[in-house]
Amino acid sequence: MKIVIVGTGIAGLTAYHFLHRILSPLIPDLEIHAYEAYKSPSIGIGGTLGLAPNGLYTIKLISESAHARILESGFPCSKFEFRNSKGKVLGLMPTGPPDRYPGTGGEVMHSRAAIYEEILRVLETQGAQIHYNKTVTAVTPKDGAVEVTFADGEVVEADLVIGADGIKSIVRRAAFPSVEARFEGLVGVGGVIPTSAIPKSEQPREIPYDYKNANYSPTVMTFGKNGFFGYSPINSKTGDEGRYQWWSTAESDSEDQDIPIEEIERQLLERHKDWVSPQGEKVIEGIIRFGMQQHKESSEAERSKRVLVLPNYYMQIMDRYNSTDGRILLMGDSAHGQGVSLASEDGYVYAALLAHEIQQAKAAQSSDYKDALKNAGEYYTQMRKPRNDKIMAAAARAGGMKKNLSWWEEMSRDFFFGLFLRFAPESIHDSAFGYKADVEVENFLKSKA
Ligand SMILES: Cc1cc2nc3c(=O)[nH]c(=O)nc-3n(C[C@H](O)[C@H](O)[C@H](O)COP(=O)(O)OP(=O)(O)OC[C@H]3O[C@@H](n4cnc5c(N)ncnc54)[C@H](O)[C@@H]3O)c2cc1C
Repeated sequence: MKIVIVGTGIAGLTAYHFLHRILSPLIPDLEIHAYEAYKSPSIGIGGTLGLAPNGLYTIKLISESAHARILESGFPCSKFEFRNSKGKVLGLMPTGPPDRYPGTGGEVMHSRAAIYEEILRVLETQGAQIHYNKTVTAVTPKDGAVEVTFADGEVVEADLVIGADGIKSIVRRAAFPSVEARFEGLVGVGGVIPTSAIPKSEQPREIPYDYKNANYSPTVMTFGKNGFFGYSPINSKTGDEGRYQWWSTAESDSEDQDIPIEEIERQLLERHKDWVSPQGEKVIEGIIRFGMQQHKESSEAERSKRVLVLPNYYMQIMDRYNSTDGRILLMGDSAHGQGVSLASEDGYVYAALLAHEIQQAKAAQSSDYKDALKNAGEYYTQMRKPRNDKIMAAAARAGGMKKNLSWWEEMSRDFFFGLFLRFAPESIHDSAFGYKADVEVENFLKSKA
């Protein structure tokens, strides 16, 4: 059986790992090839993200040592502090405390690059076949196979093609042409700065941050009437080694990422000029000025010092992630656009379902995997869609709070969001964060038996 994976972001890498590990003992002639448009691994590229307990759980299924290193090098962040732009603390929200999601280590703020590099390292020891500088331009279903065409003219044929090629997926466009990812009208701008650029009053008051007893969080999310500004430590180091991520999200008419830094600076300062911390300090303005200066003084190669512009996309809810014959599948952002934690689950779920279906075929003395692919594709959609749809709906609601608001809308948001934060139960994220991909597959298959 020949499997082609298009894209080697976190979805593509995790899919590769699990398919290889779970299917190799079952399929002697298994061949997996991953193709990536980047010229080389995207080491060092990207900003910061929150890795939720469910994502950490899946990474632990990949490698306990990768999981341990990610926990160790990130910032354990079990609460977010929400404020408004006038310096009022609206409340604290528990995110993913380690004791609520045991074995995961709890939510961490981390660089996307570090997570990617840890998973890539596991794949390298597995001998994964990753082909760089290979941009897929077309995916065409054939009778009993799928043809993949590259920008350099090469054409390969596979039994199964997995589209892990991100929010603007070419595989999705080929298999589900009516589905679109639309620019949401929000753009995030951000970067990484040293902890010393953050006023002491905003830094963690103790290292490690005492998430259980602290009545504050150094991960601060501030909402104004014309956007949002966040900052958080991304490691637990102090002094020159400490790092903070900052990001501003606001409405924009354009998804253009190629904006002169002076224009970005002008817009950010204009937007956040009156935003203050509870102490009345202009912390946000200070962060913007530092981040802009750092960017201007850095070279193109000093990626970690440069400002990133990331447009947000609204991904249409799909009816299915599998073609009817199960030979084309979508994973990660190409299917749901919900980032790293959900993306990492997709690969495990599908690989385990396909392995089960192949075992069934073998038990029936069949070496034709046509039905196995078809059934596994259907099951994959059945398992993933209800979960993803729910999370996509919650993300769409949260995005609305970052848009421009009238005076009245701003007041209502502060009031109702404050109320929500006061009464939100500890269990609020259980269905999202408590997901254990292996247990879920087992339960699903039992329900089908
Ligand atoms: C370089 C980079 C930096 C990022 N930085 C951040 C960040 O700072 N904050 C954040 O929240 N999220 C960031 N993300 C997105 C985040 O990593 C994803 O939302 C999440 O991990 C889900 O990943 P994915 O693998 O589904 O998609 P992605 O991470 O988008 O990966 C898709 C991969 O497919 C490749 N690809 C796309 N089209 C083709 C094609 N036609 N042929 C071959 N390959 C193709 C892309 O080059 C990419 O490597 C970043 C993604 C990338 C690729």
